[in-house]
Amino acid sequence: MTAPFDRRHTDDLMAFLAQSPSPYHAVANAAARLADAGFTRLAETDAWDGGPGGRYVVRGGALIAWYVPEGAGPATPFRVVGAHTDSPNLRLKPTPETGRHGWKQLAVELYGGPLLNSWLDRDLGVSGRLALRGGGTALVHVDRPLLRVPQLAIHLDRSVNDGLTLNRQEHTMPVWGLGAPREHELLDFLAEEAGLGSAGEIAGWDLMAHSVEPPAYLGKDRELLAAPRLDNLLSVHAATAALADTARRGGTPHHIPVVAAFDHEENGSESDTGAGGPLLRVALERDVYARGGTAEDRARAVAGSFCLSSDTGHAVHPNYGERHDPDHRPVAGGGPLLKVNVNQRYATDGVGRAVFTAACEQADVPWQPFVSRNDIPCGTTIGPITSARHGIATVDVGAPILSMHSARELCAAVDPYLLANAMAAFLRPAE
Ligand code: ZN
Repeated sequence: MTAPFDRRHTDDLMAFLAQSPSPYHAVANAAARLADAGFTRLAETDAWDGGPGGRYVVRGGALIAWYVPEGAGPATPFRVVGAHTDSPNLRLKPTPETGRHGWKQLAVELYGGPLLNSWLDRDLGVSGRLALRGGGTALVHVDRPLLRVPQLAIHLDRSVNDGLTLNRQEHTMPVWGLGAPREHELLDFLAEEAGLGSAGEIAGWDLMAHSVEPPAYLGKDRELLAAPRLDNLLSVHAATAALADTARRGGTPHHIPVVAAFDHEENGSESDTGAGGPLLRVALERDVYARGGTAEDRARAVAGSFCLSSDTGHAVHPNYGERHDPDHRPVAGGGPLLKVNVNQRYATDGVGRAVFTAACEQADVPWQPFVSRNDIPCGTTIGPITSARHGIATVDVGAPILSMHSARELCAAVDPYLLANAMAAFLRPAE
């Protein structure tokens, strides 16, 4: 029987989502949870030692964390849970101060594939990373209403409800004040918010907008969770919780549990912090060598390794049931998805299915197959990339949600908890 729903997992997810408006914040908050569980941070530029225990590295918006159990050898295989830290949003252009007709505006680029209409008429804050003149970075998170992308009144477009058309340049620039735009006004403001002496200390930055409305339970019995960035911080949070839990229980000597949280999935994963980059491969390799292993040990460890790539998927939408395959209809609250696409948009195969369903069985968690209609192409995720780049057998899974890529998505409150339990069983398989 499935364990009763422990709502503390989802409560903590809500806090994690609210604290993590950017990939940099997501990684910092995951790292803090791992540090609480006894993990040590390593610098990529230092020499690594390789005793038992938990370690992690952070690079930009990506994090790789692993736990070496007592008794693990240099050829002991890895069990990796992979996820991504980035979400579609509005990001600030290099010279953001702009405006016209008496309005101060900020110039934004579109990151990934947002549902643009979901960003209209929302109160938005600003967050991200500041690169400092003397070296190093600082995080900034202004979590009160600053910006808004205003809709056009219906009186000025009577046909708007028959199909909204938004130009990605003309119609996406938020307003944030009145009067003429003033150069450096945003950086001056953010320097103050970040507690820096002046904007002169900021030599570079990566800044983005987020909805300031906090995550919330919906429904009489709080069965639903409405929140930004469920895609895919839901998985990052679940993986972090599962790894911390595995470390607290000491793991098993037969597997080294790993979490890989990558940036840049929403635009193809090709970066030094994306799943297409060398970050995971190098971290695992260095760990093998730090524990006295050889190239042969590394190859043996990778050959025996397995990756559970977790990302959100589509629950059947009650108002658009015909968009889903008639025979594969995953429901919200029904447990994690096993995502299948025979053309390798998902990496799942029969062997992967066996590994994942064994984990679900071990955790007493129900699971549901997901496959698209043949006439509606499906999305993809880090699974096929991780599998191809690292040569690690991979299965794609995730939690069912609605409104994927909206500024505010929706899922069942229980599904993040069920996914985390399945991940914990995957990371610590029964002997
Ligand atoms: Zn995703």
